[in-house]
Amino acid sequence: MKDLSIPLDIDNLKVISQTLDTKGNIIITVESICTKTTCHKCGKDATKRYGYGSLMEYRHTSVFDTPVILRIKPVRYECEHCEPPGTTTTERYNWVAEGGKITKGLEEYLLRCVINSTIQDVAKKERISYKTVQTMLNNLIHREIDWSQYSDLETIGIDEISNRKGYQNFIAVISAKDKYGNLTILDVLDSRKKDDVLAFLESIPDHLKKTVKQVCTYMYDGFVNSAIEVFGKQRVVVDRYHVSKLYRGALDNVRIKEMKRLKSILPSEEYSELEGMMWILRKQYECLSKEEKRKLEALYKHSPLLKKAHSYALKLTHIFNTHHDRKSAMAKLDRWIISVEKIGLSCFNTFIKTLNKHKGSIANYFKNRSTSGFVEGLNNKIKVIKRRCYGFFKTDSLFQRLTIDLNGYRMLRL
Ligand SMILES: [Zn+2]
Repeated sequence: MKDLSIPLDIDNLKVISQTLDTKGNIIITVESICTKTTCHKCGKDATKRYGYGSLMEYRHTSVFDTPVILRIKPVRYECEHCEPPGTTTTERYNWVAEGGKITKGLEEYLLRCVINSTIQDVAKKERISYKTVQTMLNNLIHREIDWSQYSDLETIGIDEISNRKGYQNFIAVISAKDKYGNLTILDVLDSRKKDDVLAFLESIPDHLKKTVKQVCTYMYDGFVNSAIEVFGKQRVVVDRYHVSKLYRGALDNVRIKEMKRLKSILPSEEYSELEGMMWILRKQYECLSKEEKRKLEALYKHSPLLKKAHSYALKLTHIFNTHHDRKSAMAKLDRWIISVEKIGLSCFNTFIKTLNKHKGSIANYFKNRSTSGFVEGLNNKIKVIKRRCYGFFKTDSLFQRLTIDLNGYRMLRL
């Protein structure tokens, strides 16, 4: 028997019990181990217990895609300093995010998910309300930054969130990864206008600006240009993730058009053989199974255009996956553009325009091969861990076996 334990990651809590509710949520009943709170009237410590407030529930980070809800009865304290006596204060928690519905741990996780995604998608995936995610973002917008808590900002990341339902279409998230790899959110801007991003970057104190080795940014003119204005061309890197998103998008468009065309000309039996191509085209060729390779060959036979577009997309990925110095990477990119234009592959036209415009910043990637921590680092780590876990458990009724030990670790018996 093996135990897999995942920390609750919250100090000052004692786990009392855990159970599943009728909706399949994991309900963890907890208790605070604090022995005092700050009196809301006089600001001194109130230590005399005075019953409980009403039961509260906070969403915490999910376990294996199952929502976790922390249930707690807040302790009330009576102040012994106030005159006349009788002032009571209900304890507050430093692990609850502003807005009062979710934990800070979940807030941080959601923020990572929402970057380069949409609020809708994240709300749906995490089974949390759209409003909760939006409140979280609104609370983070233009908050006061205490620069004194930072000693270095090695990598600054500028990413965006699209917010289709709200008033603003885009929100910019500015993060920093220090030299030890610690990732923090510096600010959330409710705009992606150049002026706003520029104003923020300029507001970074000079001594911290000097510690910035690179600014990894989403390939959006307003972001790239303001970063260059403040930090100079040498330090601005367009995240390769965004580059690949663009040329993969171009390939997807070809695939969609070609599949439509094939559907209209091929017998339905033959066409059905070709379905499910999206992931096959997105994978590295070496990672394809025999069956997938066979499917791909069949598709190539029917669509020489898709074959060409796919092979050029793979060539580009290969350039990014190989170690080059900046200069030879630039030359490789140039050669790629020339040969695409030579064979008349028009599907990459828009991409090539963007590539030419930001080529310098894109090629800076090859100096340190860095990306904004959010995009490739943490998000991927989380996904990989999850995927591995799925491999382990498959469809087992694992939640029956989930227990919480007294240190607040979620224990899974296998
Ligand atoms: Zn008091």
